[in-house]
Amino acid sequence: MAKSRITSPRPHADPIPRIGGNEVYLDNNATTRTDPRVVEAMLPYFTERYGNAASLTHRFGQEADEAVEQARQQVANLIGAHPREIIFTSGATESNNLALKGVAAMYRPQGDHIITAATEHKAVLDPLRRLGREGFHITILPVDAYGQVTVEQVAQALTPRTILVSIMAANNEVGTLQPVRAIGRLCKERRVLFHTDAAQAAGKIPLDVEDMGIDLLSLSAHKMYGPKGIGALYVRRRDPRVRLEPQMDGGGQERGLRSGTANVPGIVGFGVACELCQQEMANEAIRLTQLRERLRCGIQEELDGVTLNGHPTERLPGNLNLSFAHVKGEALLMALRGVAVSSGSACTTASLEPSYVLKALGLDDELAHGSIRFGLGRFNTAEEVETVVQEVVRVVRYLRALNPLHEMASLQ
Ligand SMILES: *Cc1c(COP(=O)(O)O)cnc(C)c1O
Repeated sequence: MAKSRITSPRPHADPIPRIGGNEVYLDNNATTRTDPRVVEAMLPYFTERYGNAASLTHRFGQEADEAVEQARQQVANLIGAHPREIIFTSGATESNNLALKGVAAMYRPQGDHIITAATEHKAVLDPLRRLGREGFHITILPVDAYGQVTVEQVAQALTPRTILVSIMAANNEVGTLQPVRAIGRLCKERRVLFHTDAAQAAGKIPLDVEDMGIDLLSLSAHKMYGPKGIGALYVRRRDPRVRLEPQMDGGGQERGLRSGTANVPGIVGFGVACELCQQEMANEAIRLTQLRERLRCGIQEELDGVTLNGHPTERLPGNLNLSFAHVKGEALLMALRGVAVSSGSACTTASLEPSYVLKALGLDDELAHGSIRFGLGRFNTAEEVETVVQEVVRVVRYLRALNPLHEMASLQ
């Protein structure tokens, strides 16, 4: 592999200038700050090396092409794939659409049944809903109270008409990890294709497409300290060779599966983001798990009526989702000063509907409404966690003091 483009030290060495005042950013499941080392690697591809990666008749194009191929290798390395199996897209939404619709169109003669789970991202559920309207049969498996499906559930749902199973690696709201390896191995045995949306898991927990029996895997750079608007779909090339119907036609880039001029700076940044995550994943997972547990314990020691959503241990290191009895999540969000968090996912918060993910875990409307997602990431510090503990405790006490329901419950 070519010489690494990463030149600066890990940014913890210098204090990160906090744009936007002293706000603590704890919404890393919605998006992450682009790592300064990623930005630095991207810059030359806006200024001197601006060639089109398909224009191989001159140096500008060749440089761009080399950079794209190096990034393809970096992305492939992160998930144990071959670079030729990586298709660059605009992000995980597009990757999911290409995987699901592309398989559905290509394998229709073999079958019309697809299996997924109730807590999948909208970028899986909505394309499948569309396929359902077009005549496919979609089984949506329920999850347990932690948000997991079991391999037995998948096994029981398989029919001779099943062409695809799509189960996410890690959930974006509650952080729950799915038994991806077991499901992948079942799918291999039963000769059914297996897709996993790994937008949240990639770069945070180890993933290996061979070991886990994954045929298609969706990635998004902006969830792993890369830029927005770039992602990839892993498409297995052997045992079996996965065939896809392209969803974007044009110049034939990305092996004809995704036409359009390559986003060279984005791809370069995505590659570096993957390499950094791969290098730092082991230590970072330990650090974030400690921060997460400190945040949880700090809040739960001071407040009663706080419950954890998702799995206690089989969860993303940086994700903490808590329900606060007798407090509305929206009120909590608005009252929290200097803390950027969300209730539910970035895409559903605007609707004020309780999260369908939390409802699938069996939460009643009230607890689902009183939930907050804390997403810790690379740039969060132990001091920030202490600040957030204090602020959450202050605000929840204040809101509960205003709520007669809470007073009645605490008198019982
Ligand atoms: C963020 C996210 C997506 C969408 O990714 P984009 O790159 O923003 O399109 C899909 N699935 C999951 C699980 C996500 O967290």
